[in-house]
Amino acid sequence: MAEIIDGKAIAEKIKSELLVSATAFEQKHGRKVGLAVIRVGNDPASAVYVRNKIKACEKCNIRSFSYDLDEAVADAELISLIHKLNDDVNVDGILVQLPLPKHINEREVLSEIAPKKDADGFHTVNAGKLFLGEKGCTVACTPRGIIELIKSTGVNISGKHAVVVGRSNIVGKPIAALLLANDATVTVCHSRTVNLKEITLSADILVVAIGKSKFITADMVKRGAVVIDVGMNRDENGLCGDVDFNGVKDKAGYITPVPGGVGPMTVAMLLSNTVDGAMHE
Ligand code: NDP
Repeated sequence: MAEIIDGKAIAEKIKSELLVSATAFEQKHGRKVGLAVIRVGNDPASAVYVRNKIKACEKCNIRSFSYDLDEAVADAELISLIHKLNDDVNVDGILVQLPLPKHINEREVLSEIAPKKDADGFHTVNAGKLFLGEKGCTVACTPRGIIELIKSTGVNISGKHAVVVGRSNIVGKPIAALLLANDATVTVCHSRTVNLKEITLSADILVVAIGKSKFITADMVKRGAVVIDVGMNRDENGLCGDVDFNGVKDKAGYITPVPGGVGPMTVAMLLSNTVDGAMHE
């Protein structure tokens, strides 16, 4: 039976440390650390994520600036808001909640955020620095949280075979780069991968981010592996991950639950990136 990695508890501990740092920042600078959160349109899942992020800011003594823009907003208007926030001394981090409506060019919009205020770590400069192994970049929140979760198990990443299933820009690619930076031997799988099961079965560390309910089953997991489930899928029973938790938990050594695993860490790391941004200005 696997040990359950309690992402919620680890995230709470990180947030209590952030409260201390953010309060010290306020005492020193006479203003709070600030995070601007931009939401476009009425996607219900995005509304929940944004609400959680704003609530988490309050808990950590971070001031949030919330912008809800109309679904039909023009790229130019969104970009002009970003420029305004880039110049605002009270704003240390800027987050544009994804996905954006189809008519908006996501990459173009994200590239307008000043890299030092890029709380999500999606800017090309930050992503590029991560891949080059350069210090001083903002690392994307979900991958940063995943590394913390793996480290919390006490399993040494160095030399392990880490398999990442999914190659998105926000999870798969950056977590592969981080695992590599931590000296894992990394294999990245995706929808065209042949013999996926053969590869996942050889994983000491398995990170799954594909967006398909309970896709990874026990027969695909090596006994004793660290299994990190990034998936957040809504089905008739509520929220579930990309891993068949009930089956896999009897085979893995460590496993993250959904909810209560990667999700809370993503929020904690967003706040951590914001506080780091304020400290290094
Ligand atoms: P994307 O849809 O951007 O990417 C999915 C990836 O999975 C693609 O690379 C795709 O391959 C791959 N894939 C799809 N089907 C298969 C398959 N059958 N076998 C192998 N690979 C497959 O997803 P995201 O990375 O944005 O998100 C993944 C999941 O993680 C979602 O459930 C999302 O909600 C969740 N998520 C959770 C977060 C959290 O904080 N907990 C944060 C971000 C995401 P290809 O490239 O070939 O199409």
